[in-house]
Amino acid sequence: MSLEPSADPAADRRATYDYRSSDVDRPALVDDLMRLVTCEIRADTYSRQLYATDASAYELTPIAVAFPESTADVAGILEYCAEREIPVLPRGGGTSLAGQTVNRAVVLDFTRHMNEILEIDPTGRTATVQPGTILGTLNEALAPHDLKFAPDPAWGDKSAIGGAIGNNSTGAHSLTYGKTDAYIESVEAVLADGTVTEFGAVTRDEIDDRADPDGDLEARIYAEVARILDEDAELVDETYPDLKRNVSGYNLDRLVAEYRGETLPGGEETGEPKTVNLARLLAGSEGTLAIVTEATVSLESVPETKAVSLLCYADLHQAMAEVEPILEHDPAAVEVLDDVLLDLARETAEFGPVTEMLPEGTNAVLLVEFYADDAAHGREQVAGLLADRCPDAAAEGEPAADAPRTDDEHRAIDALEAYEKEARTTFWKLRKSGLPILLSRTTDEKHISFIEDTAIPPAQLPTFVERFEEILENHDTYATFYAHAGPGVLHVRPLINTKTEVGLDQLHGIADAVTDLVVELGGSVSGEHGDGRARTQWNRKLYGDELWETFQELKTAFDPDWILNPGQVVFREDDPTDLREHLRFDPDYEFDSGFDPELEWDNDNGMQGMVELCHGCGGCRGEQETTGGVMCPTYRASREEITATRGRANALRQAMSGEMDRGEAVSDEFVEEVMDLCIGCKGCAVDCPSEVDMAKLKAEVTHEYHQRNGASLRDRLFANVATLSKWGSRLAPLSNAATSVPGARKLLEATVGIDSNRSLPTFEPVTFREWFANRGGSRIAEREAKRKAVVYPDTYTNYSNPAAGKAAVRVLEAAGVHVTVPGELDDTGRPAFSKGFLEKARTTARENVAALSPLVADGWDVVVIEPSDAVMFQSDYLDLLSSDSAERLAGATYGVCEYLDAFRLDEAIEFDDRSTDRSLTYHGHCHQKATKKDHHAVGVLRRAGYTVDPLDSGCCGMAGSFGYEAEHGSMSDAIASILYEQVADSDGERVVAPGASCRTQLENRPTATEKPPTPIELVAAALS
Ligand SMILES: Cc1cc2nc3c(=O)[nH]c(=O)nc-3n(C[C@H](O)[C@H](O)[C@H](O)COP(=O)(O)OP(=O)(O)OC[C@H]3O[C@@H](n4cnc5c(N)ncnc54)[C@H](O)[C@@H]3O)c2cc1C
Ligand code: SF4
Ligand code: SF4
Repeated sequence: MSLEPSADPAADRRATYDYRSSDVDRPALVDDLMRLVTCEIRADTYSRQLYATDASAYELTPIAVAFPESTADVAGILEYCAEREIPVLPRGGGTSLAGQTVNRAVVLDFTRHMNEILEIDPTGRTATVQPGTILGTLNEALAPHDLKFAPDPAWGDKSAIGGAIGNNSTGAHSLTYGKTDAYIESVEAVLADGTVTEFGAVTRDEIDDRADPDGDLEARIYAEVARILDEDAELVDETYPDLKRNVSGYNLDRLVAEYRGETLPGGEETGEPKTVNLARLLAGSEGTLAIVTEATVSLESVPETKAVSLLCYADLHQAMAEVEPILEHDPAAVEVLDDVLLDLARETAEFGPVTEMLPEGTNAVLLVEFYADDAAHGREQVAGLLADRCPDAAAEGEPAADAPRTDDEHRAIDALEAYEKEARTTFWKLRKSGLPILLSRTTDEKHISFIEDTAIPPAQLPTFVERFEEILENHDTYATFYAHAGPGVLHVRPLINTKTEVGLDQLHGIADAVTDLVVELGGSVSGEHGDGRARTQWNRKLYGDELWETFQELKTAFDPDWILNPGQVVFREDDPTDLREHLRFDPDYEFDSGFDPELEWDNDNGMQGMVELCHGCGGCRGEQETTGGVMCPTYRASREEITATRGRANALRQAMSGEMDRGEAVSDEFVEEVMDLCIGCKGCAVDCPSEVDMAKLKAEVTHEYHQRNGASLRDRLFANVATLSKWGSRLAPLSNAATSVPGARKLLEATVGIDSNRSLPTFEPVTFREWFANRGGSRIAEREAKRKAVVYPDTYTNYSNPAAGKAAVRVLEAAGVHVTVPGELDDTGRPAFSKGFLEKARTTARENVAALSPLVADGWDVVVIEPSDAVMFQSDYLDLLSSDSAERLAGATYGVCEYLDAFRLDEAIEFDDRSTDRSLTYHGHCHQKATKKDHHAVGVLRRAGYTVDPLDSGCCGMAGSFGYEAEHGSMSDAIASILYEQVADSDGERVVAPGASCRTQLENRPTATEKPPTPIELVAAALS
């Protein structure tokens, strides 16, 4: 099982892009490496810049990027680099938060090719995988066996096993499962000189047999391990904090505990003394000791069920004081959410209702989860917890007779319980709800991750939080406190502007003071996210000079010339790591977009605010099967970083801040390689935690490109599709026949670049508007109507698919709505907007607003059938026009099913269930998903009597005109193939989709028997 794209979209002969820029830095290095290895090596500007960042605050341009396909490739690259002392950096998803995947090095991206699950052994409960395997994908494959890779980092559906080993990752359930190291059985690894070896469990005798301080690299590693066990074990035992979660420095406490056969701080038994697992020494080494090319990991059973309680407190301090007694109840997770995050959640439409369930005065919550054998067991555990910690709450179950009783003081105001999956998921989503809002700040001040990952003994949490707050106050800033209270790992991201010297002082001052506090309280600087550029410098403070030297010696033993990700975990005295260096935004940072933006950006702190918004989390690299949602279809099709929202956002920011040549953002190459492949689906505007709106940025860049270079004939044709459609309809059926003339499509491809494999839309001789006028207007009199609606004749409905318009009129009238269809209007401006003709789109927007505003003022609603046109009124007009009338039009506009659902108009309709016997597979339009409006059609179809399977699908790949453009045909097909698979897996007998482009694409799928109908047509078909 592997994660190869279904086809390489750039391999199409018509594709003019290759995901690279034409200039190559260090071509000799690329040539040399290409002779030695079989995999691709890139050193062009775009590729290097794309790998200059991760999810941290850091940025450093690498030397080159390689995409290894085999262990031999990795060995070849290392051998070459070792001879020349060129640094090398292994990388998974690049989701690290401390900067450990940012270095001046040859980056090895394992997620492209070395992502195979090689073997699953359900009986032995192990899996053998390549390092680029995404954890979410592994767990999907394990699900049929009721097994899982237990450590659950929150971003597991975007991060890889190599990264989990590199960071020794874990997640919310570390109380039960511990960290990644507990699950590494053995690894194949490539050493710094290119030697391929295996690490796993070894006895002391085997270590001694292999150890030789004067031998080859491997022998020297064993010699150093033996030395540490003999000379430093006592020191390690005394110095390492007694914590369940500590990933600062090297994993020496486990090494020593295993050697002594002692129990680890988390309670894990280590087995027979004098045996150590050296593969586990690589856990948390952040790519600095060796490069993992294959790993065998052990697996855990998926729990039967879970139970959750949400304990409510008057403040964070009260909540912190409860953590220790709660742990006596053996929960799987204890997570905290403070007042700032609760307030942010209260303001959201999604979580407002949940927060309303919290008792008045709740300013902090602890989410406590139990794993349970069955529902009754779950209730019993929650009841035991509540009887002890919140006796006033009326628990649903009865506590076990032996449930723990802890201290007498009860601090919780009240508690909520959740047993069903949906309710539990809502509580977990609440816990995670505020962070995206925190990360959506478009100001220069950002919530920076640099001291966000401390681990503190739970008993010390109240003191820690109080003193941390004082430190923040002393440094004139604030932060929120959230995450894994159970193991003492609080995520705290102070608000800092690193573009100023004051900000840099805050960064250093806070980190210095907090690390002092951590050491004083027996904690660790990093409990989960690793050292990286942000925290490596504090390891000496944490562990002392002697162990710091041990770290240096261990590093030297593995990597004599310090070429493996140098400067992380430990540094050389002559090359120290400083958390203030290599920041993405520093006082030297200068932004200049090179042009005046055309759209409204006031809500985003200017276009610059949006260009700088992406924080690099890699959320846009999730797969359809595991992450779901829309973002980002082009990445899912190609698995190229440049086609992910992150890649585009990074490239755009770098092109506008001097990291690339000035003016690069509107150069031919940048537009073609970076912006052109964004299909403008708006998935990122809703799925990205920071709500990066790449479609809007693309519109700006394309507009400026047109201003400077003019637009192609094809772009102008697509922008004017309303006029073309009008003529197409007038000349129908002749116009339809024209494209069937032999050779016509080939000619269109050769002259205009329209894909000859696509069938073009056909036109109806009688338009929707004409049909409505011919029938004599609405059959429901205005005075008898519940509501009155303007059914907008959007271009596609009016000229190509009047059937959907007719269906809408019939259904609305059946629901008692008086309708009208305006004369003249037929274009919302969507095609011009998508193609970057922003002035034209604005003119069209003004015409529509002028024509429709009086009707809106008179109480008419505006109903639009084509989803992207509805969203144009509802959302994009506000980017084009800053006027009250545009806002009023936006507020009065509905997609047709949204309209029926929002006012429950369809409930007045009698449906005939004889017409609804075929079950449906529903694919929503991405623009409706971006505005959270695609669920309406499902509700209406179900009430009409249909059985509906709504797909969690992305964009169809057609994306307006994108799929018609010859050079984009293969990308469009590759995106579509993801949707086709979902359709094939669905039980629905018919496919239904509201969007014209989606329906065209779905008609092209190999098993299609019809062009899918629109939902409104099926609702109309069910009218009795
Ligand atoms: C929103 C968000 C939430 C997060 N939540 C969590 C969480 O709950 N728990 C948690 O632990 N982390 C969390 N993280 C941090 C990060 O996602 C995890 O540490 C993750 O496991 C890193 O995996 P990756 O594939 O992205 O690795 P990368 O970031 O690419 O690499 C991580 C480290 O591993 C090294 N590495 C990668 N591949 C190899 C290899 N083949 N051989 C040797 N070394 C290698 C790299 O050099 C680097 O030092 C979060 C990050 C984000 C953005
Ligand atoms: S675009 Fe959004 S999801 Fe993607 S990396 Fe940036 S912030 Fe994360
Ligand atoms: S608009 Fe769509 S294709 Fe473009 S970056 Fe966002 S999610 Fe990706």
